[in-house]
Amino acid sequence: MDVFDRIGADDYEQVVFCHDRRAGLRAIVAVHSTRLGPALGGTRFYPCACEADGVEDVLRLARAMTYKAAAAGLDLGGGKAVIFGDPNRDKTEALLRAYARHVDALGGRYLTAEDVGTTQADMDLVRRETRFVTGVSRELGGSGDPSVATAYGVLWAMKAVALHLWGDTSLTGRHVALAGVGKVGRALLTHLAEERARVSVADVTPAALEWAVTEAGAEAVAVEKIHAVDCDIYSPCALGGALSAETIPELRCAAVVGSANNQLADGTASTRLLAEAGVLYAPDFVANAGGLINIAQELAPGGYLPDRALAAVRQVFDNLTSVLQAAEVDGVSTAAAADRLAEDRIAALSAVHQIRPPT
Ligand code: NAD
Repeated sequence: MDVFDRIGADDYEQVVFCHDRRAGLRAIVAVHSTRLGPALGGTRFYPCACEADGVEDVLRLARAMTYKAAAAGLDLGGGKAVIFGDPNRDKTEALLRAYARHVDALGGRYLTAEDVGTTQADMDLVRRETRFVTGVSRELGGSGDPSVATAYGVLWAMKAVALHLWGDTSLTGRHVALAGVGKVGRALLTHLAEERARVSVADVTPAALEWAVTEAGAEAVAVEKIHAVDCDIYSPCALGGALSAETIPELRCAAVVGSANNQLADGTASTRLLAEAGVLYAPDFVANAGGLINIAQELAPGGYLPDRALAAVRQVFDNLTSVLQAAEVDGVSTAAAADRLAEDRIAALSAVHQIRPPT
């Protein structure tokens, strides 16, 4: 891989390779953009078969965070980090604190958080070396588990879609097909039960499915059939790639609104198929921004305040409404409209940031 060609093509600001032999640290921090504010994004900890894959992963994810933060209306840029290794075997206090020193050395250009392979307890350790970390425990001023806020944001995204399609934000009596009842799906199901929606669920984990059926009154559906349920909203809340050339023609829903990242398996080809199928797609990074909006509240004046954070997460409703309206007005897909809104906001505010007081 020609790294400079790769980072130049998508205009990354900075990619830092972090190393500490004694602690066994090998990590990469990618800062895609700080044009709207510090680049916030989680730290993944995973064994990567090949370093080039790890580099590609962290670059792709950092850029996605730029779009997510911009579309969410936050004063944050996009970044991401990966620590190479097996979290169950290689994660030590020394390694995490060595990593945290590197984050600290970036001086606030990058703010880290938990992600796949890292936990809130890990972020508490990172906090001992740097203040440039979010998602620490409540005792340290953190915002707690982001999944709850993500689910609440997806609920408000569904309400935005309901208003757009059916003229009413109520989900009462609407039928939702929910794929994945993990941390986000479970909290979402609870909200949907409160809304008196009808919910069909699928999950590869039997215990998760059993909870959904017995405790939340959902109907169980086979994992390979959930996308094809005749319903109002299909909600992918498990893995990425749920919307592919195979699944889209089988959709029997009016809209797709879920928390999973990277739902479009084939990018613009998937959006074209969705348009042909007449299915409204709520862009994933707009619908699932509740967790990021919540964590950003740690940086707000006065620190994290739960009620203010909940109100901020409800902003997902307005953000998605703007995307749906822009797509209609401009005659483009909702995915393209979301990208454009994010890019326009970055361009407009970058110009504003050139106005500086004398130093
Ligand atoms: P999780 O691991 O807690 O839950 C995922 C659930 O999906 C599990 O119950 C798992 O058994 C199930 N599952 C796995 N494969 C499946 C399949 N093929 N069909 C049906 N179910 C399957 O993860 P989570 O934190 O709930 O996140 C869910 C999705 O939302 C992920 O794509 C994640 O990247 C995305 N997301 C999460 C957050 C957050 O705050 N947790 C924020 C933004 C995006």
